[in-house]
Amino acid sequence: MAAKARRRFTAADWERRYGDDPFMLGVIRKVIVALHRDERIATWEGLQEALREQVAQHSNLHPGVERYVAHAVEQYLDAHDELAAQHGEVRFVAFDPAIGSQGREVTVWAPLYSSVDGVREVRRLRVNRARSSAEAHDHWATVAAFVAAGVGLRVPPVKIRIVEAGLYDGSTEVVFEGTPDEVRARYEAYGRPVIKSLVEVTDYRPGQSCQNCKLAGCCPSLEDLSGCLGQRRPGTHTRSVSAADLELYLKCPARWYLETACRLPAAGMASEASDRGRIIHRWLAQAHARGTRCTEQDVAPFGEAGVFMGTLTTEEYGKAREFLAAHARSCPLADGVEVVAVEPSVYGYDETADVVIASQPDLVYRGADGRIFVRETKTTTQMPADENDAFDRFFPVPWLMNIASTAKDAFGKSEMPPVVELEVITPEGARVFTWDLERDQDMVRMARAEVRQRAGSWIRDATWSPSPGSQCTWCPVRRWCPDAADVPGGVDGQPQVHDEPCAGLQMGVSD
Ligand code: SF4
Ligand code: SF4
Ligand SMILES: [Zn+2]
Repeated sequence: MAAKARRRFTAADWERRYGDDPFMLGVIRKVIVALHRDERIATWEGLQEALREQVAQHSNLHPGVERYVAHAVEQYLDAHDELAAQHGEVRFVAFDPAIGSQGREVTVWAPLYSSVDGVREVRRLRVNRARSSAEAHDHWATVAAFVAAGVGLRVPPVKIRIVEAGLYDGSTEVVFEGTPDEVRARYEAYGRPVIKSLVEVTDYRPGQSCQNCKLAGCCPSLEDLSGCLGQRRPGTHTRSVSAADLELYLKCPARWYLETACRLPAAGMASEASDRGRIIHRWLAQAHARGTRCTEQDVAPFGEAGVFMGTLTTEEYGKAREFLAAHARSCPLADGVEVVAVEPSVYGYDETADVVIASQPDLVYRGADGRIFVRETKTTTQMPADENDAFDRFFPVPWLMNIASTAKDAFGKSEMPPVVELEVITPEGARVFTWDLERDQDMVRMARAEVRQRAGSWIRDATWSPSPGSQCTWCPVRRWCPDAADVPGGVDGQPQVHDEPCAGLQMGVSD
C-alpha cells in the first residue's frame, strides 16, 4: 500500500499504537556494531563476555528471544569473517544508508560496509538462512545497490556488493555484484518503476500486509468488526489475530510469541495430522476452484481415467485419497450452488479492542436460496460425536460464527445471516456439522463467550509465559525456549487423536 512507502505517514484520525517490546532485529544490529568495535572478540572467551554484557543491556527481552539474539550475533560475526576471507576486508560505515532529499528519500534498512579501495557492501539480515537471488532483478538488491553507490563517502565507489547473511546458521549469499554503472542501469530498468508504482498506488487490497498496516484502523476495505473479540477496552497496543493465533496461544503463550510474533527459526516438527491436512486442503481448493461438484470419478484410484490430481504428487494423492473420496460424497457444490470464494482471506478491524482480525475459511458458497455458507474443513482420525463436540474441538467454528454474527456480510452479501459449516473428514467418512446463525442463538452466544475468553488473556499478555508440558516434545521453537520440558518417551509419544490444527494465514515474510 502506498502509505507504507512514505516515511512517518499516519492517517489523520487513527494512529497505530506500538508496544514496548524491543524490536528484535534492531537489538541484534546494535549488539553487532558494539562488538565490531570490541577488541575482546578476538578470543572465544572474550566474545562470550562481550556478548553477555551487550545482550544484558536489553533487559526486557523475552528469555527465548534473548537466547536467539546471542546465537544470531555469534553467527553473524562468523559470517562477517567468512565474507572478509572470501572478498577482502570491509569495515562498518553506517546503518540505513539513504539518498535523496527530505520527503523523497530512498532508504535501505541494512548495514553498509566499505573497503579502503572503494568496495561497498550492503548486508541484508535474515532471521533464518541466507537466500540466493535467482531473479536477475531482485528489487530489494537493485534499490540497495543504487543507494549504496550514491551515498557520499570519502572513497568513491568502484564496486557494489549486496550480500544476504543468515542469522540462524551464519550462511552468506552474494545476490548482486557490479560496477556503479551497472548498478545505475539495473536501477533504471527494474528499481525506479517499482518505487514509482509503490508511491502512486491508491487502491486498497486487503491481504497479509493489513496485519501491520499504519492505516488498518481507518481503512475502508476492512470489515467493521467492532466488538467481535468481546473486549471492553483495547490491549497494550494495536495487534492482529487469527484463529490459529488463539489456538496456538492456548497451548503455550511463549510458543505463540516466539513462533508467530517473532518468527524465530522453527524446526520442521510438522505432525502427520498437519501434513495430511495441507495436502487435502490443496486438493480441495483446486477442485472447488473449478466451480463444480467433486465426483467419484475425480477421486478414483490413481491411473484411472478422469482422476483429478490438481498439483498433488502420486504419493500425496495416495495418502489423501480415502479422505478425498469421503469428501466427494458430501461435496456441497450441487446444482444451483455457486462458489463465492475458495479460501478467501477476510480482514476486519475491531475498534473496541484495536485489533486487526484475519480469517480464511476453506470455502464460501451461495446456496440455491441465496444464503451464504461458510465452510471449514478439518481432517482427523476420530469423528466428533456431535455438534457440541465439534464446536469444542475445532476453534475455527466459534471463530467464524463470531465474525459472521458481528458482520453478517463479512463473507458474502445476503439477506439472511450465514450458515457456518464444519466438514470433518476421516478415512472412513465425512460428516458436516452445521450452525445456522439465524436459529442457533445459544450457540452464537457460546461462540462469543469462547472467543472473548481466549482473546481476553491474549490481548493483555505482554510477558508470554511458557507452558511446559508434553507439547514441548513437538514444539518447533523448543531450541530457543529456556523452559522446554523434557518429557520421557520423546517424539514417539504421539497424542492419541490426530485433529488437524489451524493452518493460520500466510504471514509477511520477515526472515
Ligand atoms: S489495512 Fe490492508 S487494505 Fe487497508 S491500507 Fe492497510 S494493507 Fe491496504
Ligand atoms: S518448548 Fe514448551 S514451554 Fe517452550 S515454547 Fe515450546 S511448548 Fe512452550
Ligand atoms: Zn468438493
